[in-house]
Amino acid sequence: MSGHKVRGFGTKGPSANIKIRSKHATKKGKIRKHGPNAGKGQAVYATYRAVRSSCPIDCALLDAGCYAQEGNVNIHQRRAGTETFDPVAWAEGLPLGSLIRWNVSGDVVGADGADYRDAIHEAHTKRPDLKGWSYTHAWADPEIAQWAQGLPDNVRIVASMDDPTDVDRARSMGWKTIAQVTETADGKGFTDDEARKVRADTGALPCPAQRVDLGCADCQACGRDGLISFAVHGPGQKKARVSLAARRSLAVVDRDVALTGSERDRYIAERFGA
Ligand code: SF4
Repeated sequence: MSGHKVRGFGTKGPSANIKIRSKHATKKGKIRKHGPNAGKGQAVYATYRAVRSSCPIDCALLDAGCYAQEGNVNIHQRRAGTETFDPVAWAEGLPLGSLIRWNVSGDVVGADGADYRDAIHEAHTKRPDLKGWSYTHAWADPEIAQWAQGLPDNVRIVASMDDPTDVDRARSMGWKTIAQVTETADGKGFTDDEARKVRADTGALPCPAQRVDLGCADCQACGRDGLISFAVHGPGQKKARVSLAARRSLAVVDRDVALTGSERDRYIAERFGA
């Protein structure tokens, strides 16, 4: 045991989510044992953290359209608020060569954020065969940027932008994989024309899982350097569009009121009882 006890949980089985699992996997996300696709793809395991107590308080989507506060993910994130686990011990029990999607819900800050971040580092150091990735809205915090950039090569944290005009600022802080959100007509994914336009206008890769029948396990672009664009999606996407528009209307100077480090963690603990 590593001794990292944090709030949340890791899944016992692989993710069955069609956007995450390999297209070659079974419906339960398991690697097929028989047939033409036997042995192809990788199983993806996931962790969940509670929204709010593990999130940066300046996230534009917190309580305002966050996809993890709607639908099935909301059930998991609420459960995550009632459980604790040791991410290193959990990762050590995963099958050889698995993929890990860290914190499908929640983020990497909060009262136990430092412990969670240390655990991700330790898990991937101990298990070089595991490949992991995650996203953070706390990218503007220098402490988070430093942690993400010091991780081993088999795990990548993506800086998640509320406003595409922040991309250069994120790059200047050393972030190499950056995600931005784009509004699309159906609020689910990209048409071919929308994808082409995003590519031409921003150079970003429109998330393939939002375009074609393919999951993260097959794509893994979020584990490499680059700019990725997601269509605003999920049951809360109408609210999210409004929140993002409001955020984008703020001058950068107004956004920099975000608390950092222990100041932020104390605020979250007081406000959300983490
Ligand atoms: S870009 Fe690829 S790895 Fe990233 S979320 Fe989309 S499908 Fe998954």
